[in-house]
Amino acid sequence: MVKNWCDPLSSLFRKPGSQTEKKLYEAGIKNLTDLAWVIPRKAISVQKFISENLDDGQHVSGEARLINIRSSRNFRARGRNRVPLSNLTAIAKVDEIFIDLKWFNCYPNVEKSIRSKETIKFIGEISRFNGRLQILNPLLNNEDEDTLLIYPTINGIPGKKIAALIKKIPESFWNKVPSESKFIGSSYGEISLERALTFAHNINKNKNSTHNLDDVRSRLAYEEFLQEQILIRKRKYFRLKQAHKLPLEVTKKTFDEFIALFPFKLTNDQLAAINDILSDMKKKTTMTRLIQGDVGCGKTAVTLAAGGMAASHGFQTAIMCPTESLARQHFNTALNLFKMAKIKIELLVGSTPGKDKKAINQRLVSGEIDIIIGTHTLVQDSVVFKNLNLVVIDEQHKFGVEQRSSLIEKSLTKNSIVMSATPIPRSLSLTMYGDLDVSLIKEKPSAHSIIPSRIINEANYEKFLSFLLTRVNMGEQAYIVVPAIEESETLNIKNLNEILSFFRDTFPQVEIDCLHGQLSSDEKMISLEKFKENKTKILIATSIVEVGIDIHNATIMAIYGPERFGLASLHQLRGRVGRGEKPGFFFLLTDEKTSKESIQRLKILEEHQDGFIIAEKDLINRGEGDIIGRNQSGTKFRKIACINQHASELEKAINDLKKFENESPDSFLELLTRPPKSAVEITS
Ligand code: ADP
Ligand code: MG
Repeated sequence: MVKNWCDPLSSLFRKPGSQTEKKLYEAGIKNLTDLAWVIPRKAISVQKFISENLDDGQHVSGEARLINIRSSRNFRARGRNRVPLSNLTAIAKVDEIFIDLKWFNCYPNVEKSIRSKETIKFIGEISRFNGRLQILNPLLNNEDEDTLLIYPTINGIPGKKIAALIKKIPESFWNKVPSESKFIGSSYGEISLERALTFAHNINKNKNSTHNLDDVRSRLAYEEFLQEQILIRKRKYFRLKQAHKLPLEVTKKTFDEFIALFPFKLTNDQLAAINDILSDMKKKTTMTRLIQGDVGCGKTAVTLAAGGMAASHGFQTAIMCPTESLARQHFNTALNLFKMAKIKIELLVGSTPGKDKKAINQRLVSGEIDIIIGTHTLVQDSVVFKNLNLVVIDEQHKFGVEQRSSLIEKSLTKNSIVMSATPIPRSLSLTMYGDLDVSLIKEKPSAHSIIPSRIINEANYEKFLSFLLTRVNMGEQAYIVVPAIEESETLNIKNLNEILSFFRDTFPQVEIDCLHGQLSSDEKMISLEKFKENKTKILIATSIVEVGIDIHNATIMAIYGPERFGLASLHQLRGRVGRGEKPGFFFLLTDEKTSKESIQRLKILEEHQDGFIIAEKDLINRGEGDIIGRNQSGTKFRKIACINQHASELEKAINDLKKFENESPDSFLELLTRPPKSAVEITS
């Protein structure tokens, strides 16, 4: 017996544990509310009057008198348990009009049931065969529908089954649909959630309304964004309530001391970000800060400064990077920076020998190490701290939620800074990072924030090669990036090796090396080290070099198969050059196979240098899941809402919630603190 909207899907089945139930559960449809949110793909209007002049494709319903039924065995197909199937043709009469009803691959019990009847109610699509009206695979239908709803197939469960399940939800439920918008007293174009849903499923059979499912989708998108925003505010509320006993006040003296360590003048945005961090650490509440800034804006400096200041007050900092080479690079930067300060820094990565790992772990527990820089190795249980305060996660989008939070859990304060060089469009950051405090770094320190970018095709490929050689002869270095082909790692390397030998043949006098995921971590380190020392002039690499690599003498970045990358990734790659004194150049190497659309998309990079603008355009082109990885974006949580299509719904949800917070602060608090689900539960 179903009681409320939170009841599991199994309550709709006579026998729980069916395959249908399992498959739907896997697809995230776990209770009645989830089911109600499965919206038809299409609504087809159905005519009840049958005549000879009906157009093919028109859907009709009616009651047919069965005059004659013929069946023939289908020898080519068998059903479940190898049951023989048959094709059935019924000559039927509807309102004095003859029509052939044909069913293919009928199970014997279906045939028997049809044969036992004199009349049947049906619904289906008109077509013609040899001039005769016919309906192929008509649905048997006892209800008087004026609309045929086509539900999506979900995880292999056909839409027809889903429609039947939705029909099993008790009628009375539809008057009490759990709704956050109702709670906050907002409306969306006067359509209540109840009305949108009943309309979508054609529950009250509102004859006067035309079935516009797009409107329903927008209404549901609004509700979904609202739910998401409430969740985000909830998280923030509970985070801020969580107090710790380690507020850290950095003295002016320490501050000045550390700022003076940098070999360059920090930009105003960098200083502002450092101050944001310090004022967070001064509080008894947990810091959860996002440092967002385009590639090359100098985020590393900001976190190293903060880590150093925490260290001089006796607290530990952990910095986690997605790759060993990046960890190593930060480690070297930190060693250089803190040469004069008495700060102990260590590196802990996967390839650190076991003996050294043990020693490092001991020195972490004793508190001897102030700043540890590493990869996801830091997450391991064997890594224990004496008094970890600050956790920094570089290139945070490269980590899963679990990895990030298990490192943060090791901190006494749970203070964390996440850094992202993938500029996130505003709309996305409102949903992804809505509960984080954000420091934005806009200024770029480099004099070369503009990196000339060109799409190269076969006509000017030679020119590109000679430009490359000229620059190399001037003592500069180049990255040549070959795309990773997901389907086949072997193909990948073959591709890379071909390009490697091409360049070795073309420029026999130039030192050329490669860097890719199949190398051991030692080999990778040596390859990168040789490039850093300017022993190698051209580095042929996969997109490993996308994250963080900082080599000032490299001035050329050229990409093969650029259409295989997202614009944000390409922008990241571009950010690897033009970091030092010398200007950088960026080349997108296309050929005759590159589609017109791809070229159009790549042109955005020729025209724009601002990562945020590029991210906005990429969002329109590719959708949010592709930009930041599916498990990070809200797409997993949302069933219907899509940032591109429903930007104004998101805007409205945010504004309505703000208004509610301002006008009814008490109820707003209730919304954040009520036990989960209680307000959405109803009893019938
Ligand atoms: P990202 O934000 O992409 O992580 P990095 O922290 O790697 O950027 O910094 C990019 C480069 O700019 C580094 O070589 C760094 O030493 C340099 N840099 C950082 N801040 C400044 C500054 N204020 N002035 C000059 N160079 C800077
Ligand atoms: Mg970085």
